[in-house]
Amino acid sequence: MTTRRGFIQKSIQGAAVATSGGMLWSYLVIQNARAEPLALRPPGALPDADFNALCIKCGRCAVACPYDTLKLAALADRAPLGTPYFEPREIPCYLCHDIPCKVACPTGALSPTLDEVMDSRMGLAFIDTEHCLSWQGLRCEICYRVCPLRDKAIHVETRRRELSKHAMLLPMVLSEGCTGCGICENACPTEIAAIKVLPAELIQGKIGDHFRMGWKQAEGAMSGPDAGETRKGRLDSAPEQGQVPGLDYLNQAEF
Ligand code: SF4
Ligand code: SF4
Ligand code: SF4
Repeated sequence: MTTRRGFIQKSIQGAAVATSGGMLWSYLVIQNARAEPLALRPPGALPDADFNALCIKCGRCAVACPYDTLKLAALADRAPLGTPYFEPREIPCYLCHDIPCKVACPTGALSPTLDEVMDSRMGLAFIDTEHCLSWQGLRCEICYRVCPLRDKAIHVETRRRELSKHAMLLPMVLSEGCTGCGICENACPTEIAAIKVLPAELIQGKIGDHFRMGWKQAEGAMSGPDAGETRKGRLDSAPEQGQVPGLDYLNQAEF
């Protein structure tokens, strides 16, 4: 029989358990909300909402990875608890052609429709030009040389230097081709990587459809099947003297 004293003790214990359970739950919710935007997922991962709905945190993808690239998130990691993610500075994704992580996934959270690993978009590389050796005038370009999609995901632009005979070779990421594998970040020799991979939505902008770049349309027309006609039309409607094609009304005012 429960005495009055025992009843009060159990009530206090129950309240304490409920409070700590509630705090733990709040912590997990906050941790998940904070972690999600930074996590780099395995190849073929669905968008976050779908991925989180389908991933059952079984860890089979991580076990199947021959390079131990994938980790399962623990508390306070940058991914929601129990879900797979990777940190390229430690171990990048080596883009296995048979994509064993995706094959091992039993739920489709890693999309079964991804056939070519080079089509995966795990993230996007970006270069911190203030700390990149090549951008500061030294020779490096390691990121360019190790990239499995050289000249598609990253290319090197040559720029003349004013103070020496040597040209600068400047690596630049091409967002359309970058898989986000992080091999470049892993290989960058600076103390803190000058090239990093993050989820594309965190770093990629969008111009917007209402901006017109007439010169791009003109370039396309110049190389298309009607290029001759287009050129003729442009010559027929050549601007009057003093007018410069390509200037819009914002650029015509004097400031
Ligand atoms: S593609 Fe290969 S290296 Fe990359 S995460 Fe999957 S199993 Fe690992
Ligand atoms: S590897 Fe690093 S330091 Fe070297 S060129 Fe690439 S971003 Fe710059
Ligand atoms: S993350 Fe780096 S190495 Fe991988 S495809 Fe993109 S630029 Fe190349």
